[in-house]
Amino acid sequence: MPMNVQAISNLSDRINQIRLLTAEIVNREILPNETRLWAWRRDGKVSESERATARELRHEIQTKVKQAGLWAPHLPEEYGGCNLSFLEHAYMNEILAYSVGAASLFGVVAPNSGNQKILLKYGTEEQRQKWLVPLTEGKLESGFSMTEPDNAGSDPRSIQTTARRDGDHWVINGHKWFTSNGKRADFLIVMCRTDDPTGPAEQNGKMTQIIVPTDAPGVNLVRGIEVWGRSGDHCEFIYDNVRVPLENQLGKTGSGHQAAQDRLGAGRVYHCMNSVGQMWRAFDLMVERAMSREVHGGLLATKQFIQGFIADSYIDIQAARLMTIQCAEKMDTDGDARTDISAIKIFVPAAYERVVDRAIQVWGAAGVTGDLPLAGMYQGARTLRLADGPDEVHRILIAKNVLKQYREGESWDFGN
Ligand SMILES: Cc1cc2nc3c(=O)[nH]c(=O)nc-3n(C[C@H](O)[C@H](O)[C@H](O)COP(=O)(O)OP(=O)(O)OC[C@H]3O[C@@H](n4cnc5c(N)ncnc54)[C@H](O)[C@@H]3O)c2cc1C
Repeated sequence: MPMNVQAISNLSDRINQIRLLTAEIVNREILPNETRLWAWRRDGKVSESERATARELRHEIQTKVKQAGLWAPHLPEEYGGCNLSFLEHAYMNEILAYSVGAASLFGVVAPNSGNQKILLKYGTEEQRQKWLVPLTEGKLESGFSMTEPDNAGSDPRSIQTTARRDGDHWVINGHKWFTSNGKRADFLIVMCRTDDPTGPAEQNGKMTQIIVPTDAPGVNLVRGIEVWGRSGDHCEFIYDNVRVPLENQLGKTGSGHQAAQDRLGAGRVYHCMNSVGQMWRAFDLMVERAMSREVHGGLLATKQFIQGFIADSYIDIQAARLMTIQCAEKMDTDGDARTDISAIKIFVPAAYERVVDRAIQVWGAAGVTGDLPLAGMYQGARTLRLADGPDEVHRILIAKNVLKQYREGESWDFGN
């Protein structure tokens, strides 16, 4: 069933145009071809000709996306993108995500996309030419290496990887894991604590992001970590006296924490809009099945348990979508959206998990097979509750912001 996307009366013409154009490509080019496009995901059952067909098809769709002016929405035109505003991109995501994996056909592939944004904001023009341009052209791959096995990823202050200045070089030592895309990456952006014996003492121990080519001596790829029972490209790395030139430092010394926050803040809104798009798909699949599957003398849709699933899922999607849009609008107008970002980061993945869970239940055994996207969505939704800041950390942040305001004598204004 195609995604039902119509113009929204209170949105700008430009956002409506982006949503409709995106939906046209998703409905016409991607949904009917999903099985062929992602054939390589089926373990061990893919012939070389199926792979070639998938490659060709992906290339054809990418060309159509470029012709429609929708390629790389997160990048400005001079770096090959279509320069969407934050809000335009957020609205695009709810449509794109209807088909899991479609974002890659629009030039948005994590973690490259996050790294591209960091290189844009913190990179020098030389760094952009050397790393960002080839990344955007698909000539390089990258990863983001922050989380460490021996320290709490949910508390970035615990990071222990060090970069010590030695003449014209940083010398990096540390142990990281869950560096996604690690096997394919040509370079990694590594979060380090920098120590410069020649610099001001108060700068030492601050967090700084440094670009590390994966072929530098001392970059040891230990393993790709199995996630949800599948061998993957989320990698463990040991950095053993890795020397990189000082010019590989991104931004000012000590700007690493802020750069990570910049990356995650906007990223959380995009992830939530993706979750909304995927919930939308799960909802359509659930209703479609309820209307066609006969059980115990009647269609599933006539059973009140199932009607309850439909109603609760409708409520979950509406609430998740409106909360995310409200947060995105606040960010777009430079409002303080920190509390809202934490709220959507908790609410939306949990709502997503509930909606997909119900859709799986309605589909029965078929719901957990690879024939439908539901099983993958379920795993994705669960993972989101701990990645990019686990629920508990965001609950702490919400309570902290609310209590601070009340302590200062002001109650919360839910209208703004
Ligand atoms: C599929 C996947 C891909 C990833 N990709 C990347 C990547 O590309 N680059 C990268 O650097 N990292 C990546 N990560 C890592 C991810 O960002 C971290 O796993 C996440 O930040 C949580 O850190 P942690 O695993 O160390 O959990 P911990 O920090 O050890 O936390 C464990 C649990 O403790 C609880 N908790 C934490 N703080 C509190 C508190 N104050 N009060 C109560 N409970 C608390 C939470 O329930 C939390 O889930 C990825 C992870 C996954 C699963």
